[in-house]
Amino acid sequence: MHKSHTSGELRRDHIGQTVKLAGWVNRRRDHGGLIFIDLRDRWGVTQVVSDPESAAAAHELLNTVRNEFVLQVTGVVRERPEGQTNENLSTGEIELVATDVKILNASKTPPFEINEDSNVDEKVRLKYRYLDLRRERMRRNLVLRSEVTTYIRNYLANEGFIEVETPILFKTTPEGARDYLVPSRVHPGKFYALPQSPQQLKQMLMVAGVEKYFQIARCFRDEDQRGDRQPEFTQLDMEMSFVERDDVTQLLEDLMTNMIEEVCDKPIMQKPWPRITYADAMDRFGEDRPDLRFEMYLKDVTAICRDTGFKVFDGAPMVKGINAEGCGATYSRKQIDALTKFVQQHGAKGLAWLRIDEDGYKSSFAKFLSEEKIGEMVAALDGKPGDLLLFIADKAEVANDVLARLRKRFGVELGLADPNVLACCWVIDFPMFMWNEDETRWDPSHHLFTSPMPDSIPLLDTDPGAAVGSQYDMVINGYETAGGSIRIHNRALQEKVFKLIGLEDDVAQERFGHMLEAFEYGTPPHGGIAPGIDRLVMLLAGEPNIREVIAFPKSQQATDIMAGAPSVVEDHQLVELHVGILDEDE
Ligand code: ASP
Repeated sequence: MHKSHTSGELRRDHIGQTVKLAGWVNRRRDHGGLIFIDLRDRWGVTQVVSDPESAAAAHELLNTVRNEFVLQVTGVVRERPEGQTNENLSTGEIELVATDVKILNASKTPPFEINEDSNVDEKVRLKYRYLDLRRERMRRNLVLRSEVTTYIRNYLANEGFIEVETPILFKTTPEGARDYLVPSRVHPGKFYALPQSPQQLKQMLMVAGVEKYFQIARCFRDEDQRGDRQPEFTQLDMEMSFVERDDVTQLLEDLMTNMIEEVCDKPIMQKPWPRITYADAMDRFGEDRPDLRFEMYLKDVTAICRDTGFKVFDGAPMVKGINAEGCGATYSRKQIDALTKFVQQHGAKGLAWLRIDEDGYKSSFAKFLSEEKIGEMVAALDGKPGDLLLFIADKAEVANDVLARLRKRFGVELGLADPNVLACCWVIDFPMFMWNEDETRWDPSHHLFTSPMPDSIPLLDTDPGAAVGSQYDMVINGYETAGGSIRIHNRALQEKVFKLIGLEDDVAQERFGHMLEAFEYGTPPHGGIAPGIDRLVMLLAGEPNIREVIAFPKSQQATDIMAGAPSVVEDHQLVELHVGILDEDE
């Protein structure tokens, strides 16, 4: 080993010992004859000092080093002189007096400072990711991520789970996104699909009698990039046999609560976690991933707004509002105009607003409504002087979606969404299907292997839209961090669901014949879930997007900037794969 200790390890107890450290020059200072080096490795920073009198050669060498040089320093640990201790550093009470220094490697001047958390263009960070990962923030995130997965592995092993790897080259497993395809060289014209999740395979493992499976699994979905999406991402994929919904959610809640309390100092806001039905979530929050860190509930005032004579409200399928408490007093017209623009960008026709003053109202619509109606609307939203009430009149999907976005915007803008707490909850009782207007058919709200709740099975024949699915989502601070369900485990029911969502028999057979067949060989009742590791670590680390917690993420344009991927390949490779490239305009 090039080192006897790490740079985060030396304390008072080591004073007087001769030790060997190796790491990077984090900072170098020349103080009237003495040279100070902060030597950094993954565990911390240790101050090295060289004295020209006692170790001339070492001193001379240290004179030549620059930031990010790799050094090995042998020296004696001593107490820092009076007044020079550094309480912010775990090694801040000691320093290493260099007796021998070796430069293990030199470094060019890095394109950005490694030793500070300055704002650097993300493209540059991604191009030099190996340097970016040296920075303290990224080091911390990598360590946290490893702590999360290690905790999960140990916990689940203790609970009797086994980790099973499943193939990356497989057949499409639809989770609602586009597949990444890999052409087969040996089977011209045929393709493997990279799994959008190991869904089918984990169900096969239940048929195989594994009973308790997990995998830290890579999933691939070719969809447009957003802050919390990546072409490839990691799930804690789990499946269990002989379980019901509450068995799965309880196990997950225990695992997550214990893990969070071990690796993160943000408190969980409410334990046990609240369980919210889909209908309640849509009603109060306008979305199925509610941020429970603050209230600002949506209030449905459709009934009050009927027969007002005001066309915008009368004619709208839904009128719903929120109360931005206190904002009547503080928001300028310009700010309200910005809110209007915001809702229009997200599909609303406009924003109806009402400011409550001590002696009356200022409003975009009050003049069209009677005093009495206004009074009812204000009462429904618990409005008081100083408040700003905001209403959307539209189709239910639009009103809910836009108000949910407004609510989340206020969460940040007004500081209501405390970044230092974790509000975890379960959302349950999802509708089994959502109506797809464009294709005029039912889509599964989770995926096509999700079972209806037992009471809802007869509804598949009579009223599929009313059927409740056995889906459950784990939501933290407004992010969907896991989705799962109890699965269908019998062929007839699975075929019925395939039919309902418009899968022709021959297509179902071609795509999922293996599953249908497996279901005829004694398949146990089973269910599972798959928390997204990237989102989870992002939330625990308090990062704004998942790229900050992935060692080598793709850019917003789905490229690897460091290596240059995707890239062109040789013509002969394409020929071998039986693949031709179309001209842009073909
Ligand atoms: N396969 C699902 C997903 O990736 C999770 C599950 O149902 O277990 O969202």
